[in-house]
Amino acid sequence: MKKTASLLIAAAAFTAAGAVSAANVKVTPLGSHENEFCPQDRALIFEDPNGTRVLYDPGRTVAGANDPRLGKIDIILVTHMHGDHVGNAHPKEPGAGTCDKPDTSVSALPNSLAVNIALAKKAKIVTGSEMPAFFAAKLKANGGNPADSILARFGGSVTVGGIRIATVTAMHSNGVDPGYIGGELGKAMEAAGIAGDVGLATGYVLRFSTGLVAYLSGDTGVTADQERVVRNLYNAKLVVMNIGDGFTTGPTEAAYVINELVKPNSVIASHANEVGARAGKVVPGSKTDRFIKETKVPVHVPLSGRTMEFDPSGKCVAGC
Ligand SMILES: [Zn+2]
Repeated sequence: MKKTASLLIAAAAFTAAGAVSAANVKVTPLGSHENEFCPQDRALIFEDPNGTRVLYDPGRTVAGANDPRLGKIDIILVTHMHGDHVGNAHPKEPGAGTCDKPDTSVSALPNSLAVNIALAKKAKIVTGSEMPAFFAAKLKANGGNPADSILARFGGSVTVGGIRIATVTAMHSNGVDPGYIGGELGKAMEAAGIAGDVGLATGYVLRFSTGLVAYLSGDTGVTADQERVVRNLYNAKLVVMNIGDGFTTGPTEAAYVINELVKPNSVIASHANEVGARAGKVVPGSKTDRFIKETKVPVHVPLSGRTMEFDPSGKCVAGC
């Protein structure tokens, strides 16, 4: 506690001095197209001022483990096993294809992009539910260290690189596509039209060394836990909220989660499944536009490549 308090005082002193605070958390979207918000965009990098870098849901927009935008990665978070989150395919290089139709011509099966990045960066994969065993097996099968797959199951938390990581419920499905299983079993599963079982999908709550608490929704519907757990227990001040509709909360439901349940100080829109912003500007009439209009706190659009900085209270202080 003492250490946190002194860090917060240091953060306040920095801000008062008018400088961009060294005690802010930086968030950089790794979307498919620079300065736009495109249909497949999910991946975000969170950088704690202590140097720890976290990749959230690599998805289909990071151009493989060698994408130069990744830099050092210490921790990879995967909310659930669907291809647009764990990464079943990706572009040849950053910016390939168009924002409307990003290139996803490189398959990441059977490993997944999350595993390929973990192997290349020697990063820890922190997941909840029953996903850790799947990732441990993939790491082991590819010469990695299975101990780099770490469990944070509902109700508990783990601290990695100075960031406390907890998983929270997400009302969604979490089947493992037979393409990750392979062999005769994978073929039989595919023929039967069934997916593998690795437990429930999750969201995350992160507590950074600055004291900032962020809720990353993952794919979810509206849940009472968003008030009872994410707000009342963890007191999240920044939210990354999925707004795409059909598969997850749409803009109206997502705005309800923000306005009535979590009540953070700001929110980053995610998972729009549309072109939400072009050349840095929100597309009028888009789901992103509606979410902004219906939400009471500032909504920040994750323009790919633009780094936003958040103070411990969840307020954006640079890049928004
Ligand atoms: Zn999704």
